[in-house]
Amino acid sequence: TPPAGPEGASTTPRLVPGACFTRVRPTPLRQPRLVALSEPALALLGLGAPPAPEAEAEAALFFSGNALLPGAEPAAHCYCGHQFGHFAGQLGDGAAMYLGEVCTAAGERWELQLKGAGPTPFSRQADGRKVLRSSIREFLCSEAMFHLGVPTTRAGACVTSESTVARDVFYDGNPKYEKCTVVLRIASTFIRFGSFEIFKSTDEHSGRAGPSVGRNDIRVQLLDYVIGSFYPEIQAAHASDSVQRNAAFFREVTRRTARMVAEWQCVGFCHGVLNTDNMSILGLTIDYGPFGFLDRYDPDHVCNASDNTGRYAYSKQPEVCKWNLQKLAEALQPELPLELGEAILAEEFDAEFQRHYLQKMRRKLGLVQVELEEDGALVSRLLQTMHLTGADFTNTFYLLSSFLVDPESPGLAEFLARLMEQCASLEELRLAFRPQMDPRARLDKDLEGAGDAAAWQAERVRVMRASNPKYVLRNYIAQNAIEAAERGDFSEVRQVLKLLETPYQCEAGTATEPEATEARGATGGQHSYSSKPPLWAAELCVT
Ligand code: AMP
Ligand code: MG
Ligand code: MG
Repeated sequence: TPPAGPEGASTTPRLVPGACFTRVRPTPLRQPRLVALSEPALALLGLGAPPAPEAEAEAALFFSGNALLPGAEPAAHCYCGHQFGHFAGQLGDGAAMYLGEVCTAAGERWELQLKGAGPTPFSRQADGRKVLRSSIREFLCSEAMFHLGVPTTRAGACVTSESTVARDVFYDGNPKYEKCTVVLRIASTFIRFGSFEIFKSTDEHSGRAGPSVGRNDIRVQLLDYVIGSFYPEIQAAHASDSVQRNAAFFREVTRRTARMVAEWQCVGFCHGVLNTDNMSILGLTIDYGPFGFLDRYDPDHVCNASDNTGRYAYSKQPEVCKWNLQKLAEALQPELPLELGEAILAEEFDAEFQRHYLQKMRRKLGLVQVELEEDGALVSRLLQTMHLTGADFTNTFYLLSSFLVDPESPGLAEFLARLMEQCASLEELRLAFRPQMDPRARLDKDLEGAGDAAAWQAERVRVMRASNPKYVLRNYIAQNAIEAAERGDFSEVRQVLKLLETPYQCEAGTATEPEATEARGATGGQHSYSSKPPLWAAELCVT
């Protein structure tokens, strides 16, 4: 950290040579007001929910950055990154601020961040602010992903205000002013792959350069810090051999990243901006910008409207994560020799991804007893069929949870009826059940491997219901909550948050569900959070 100015902070844009963090201060907001809190996320910090309106106002003060939590030392982190395949030089926390860490009685350590708390030296031409719509999306999705069981950073609070910034959305040729909003983010650390890229030598790229002063020392320090703090078992096992230690660290980051992206594929999550600065060194999903969940299954789905080439399409995510790991391996030289890093990546990534992906997919399909070679092909055929039929990703798997083995059972009849709603036509439905994809043949093999048929049936129903969510944060659900919040009504955000806290329902199809608000006439009446998205959802555009 360079010496602090008189106020302890400066937001002047500048290159920050030889430093990983620089001191900053949040810029206060006018009339901060709590949109929502996540009780489970705040409980990580040992905080209970504020019981009274006065407490909500106090929470809004602290979680907007208007008041600093005792002991906070706000700082912005300097990182670089490869954006859309090209090295972009120094980026850094332009809109996020590190506040400090909370160490709990249980020995956990949580880093707090405010996202949208004002400019930092890394804001470049931008204002360091976030608006209500992007903040609600990040807040809700961080928590949704956690409850889905996907490794992720958390969100504890969302606070909006009467301060505004102009964003490039034009009505009648005028910029649209939107309310500045802050999200309290929580994770063990927000250090990214790009955090190690500040050590790339300046002659490796043109344009903005990362700091070049003392970079070897700092790379070693940052590696020591990350491994010692977040991978203590690896530090302990290889205390006397740093190359072996760094290799074990990179192997673990590779495996975690492979499992994280396998989880994304299995819930139909598209990240949208898989740049190396948005890849967590802990294998967490980080930076919820233009993300999206698949509605209809489409492997080529691109959720980020500014991703013109489809670099970050749904089906590309595993290979892009691997590419990003390659960039991390390059950035860890010479502390990790590149040949060693590349060998680890080749050994681990595809194998770990496939293993984890297939394991999850088998569970989604209720195959709980035996693992077969042919399962990968079965999953691909099912997905191909869903693509052909325009089936809704989440709902098709959710409906499978009520697909009991007895073909005469009402479960199967209901499944067929409900699947038909997801498919465009009867002809397509017949295609979906073409003989080479007979799921019964595969289920019979699973049953053969089990001792007791009744116990097997009960187990597979349990596993499927715990693997196929009923609720994900579809764009239209977020959009309805955003539009209500923009009118000053935060109840929809709070209701959606509650819903997403239990995405897996124990009794398929029987849980009572609140009705979604009808923010747009086109939904044609009250809309259920778990039904097929309304037609207008297809037109939503996120950048
Ligand atoms: P992202 O695409 O969200 O990962 O952001 C890429 C870079 O732009 C990072 O350095 C961010 O900190 C920075 N950035 C994003 N939004 C803002 C903003 N509103 N103000 C300043 N910097 C920003
Ligand atoms: Mg980012
Ligand atoms: Mg972002």
